[in-house]
Amino acid sequence: MRTILHSDLNNFFASVELKKFPELRDKPVAVGGDEQQRHGIVLAKNEIAKKFNVKTGDTLWQARAKCPGLIVLPPHYDEYMHYSQAAREIYYRFTDRIEPFGMDEAWLDVTHSLRLWQDGEEIANEIRRLCREELGLTVSVGVSFNKVFA
Ligand SMILES: [Mg+2]
Repeated sequence: MRTILHSDLNNFFASVELKKFPELRDKPVAVGGDEQQRHGIVLAKNEIAKKFNVKTGDTLWQARAKCPGLIVLPPHYDEYMHYSQAAREIYYRFTDRIEPFGMDEAWLDVTHSLRLWQDGEEIANEIRRLCREELGLTVSVGVSFNKVFA
């Protein structure tokens, strides 16, 4: 039987931006495309903006209509790439069988790591802890026995 983890950095772009602006953590925040362009869209949002039903892909105009106090920050893809790779380096401590999906998600086959670790849940807890402590980011990690249900 295989043990597979699915990891997903939470509100990834918004979480990386908010590391630089801790004073905005209790405000609705979105990361958005170029404000000068009429077709700027929401690329990511924090939990507070989500409560106002702000969605990825909304135009900034739509998002502001739903959430008048919304703070829109510009994206910094080089920083997201940095944190994406840093998260992957944490995953590699547990297995070299990693299948990234986008910048913020990955599948990890930890079947052969279970001689060192008690079970998938213990590895998931370690990954959550390391991402929090080393990257300052929260990650959701699901455990299952095949890729479809992680
Ligand atoms: Mg995510």
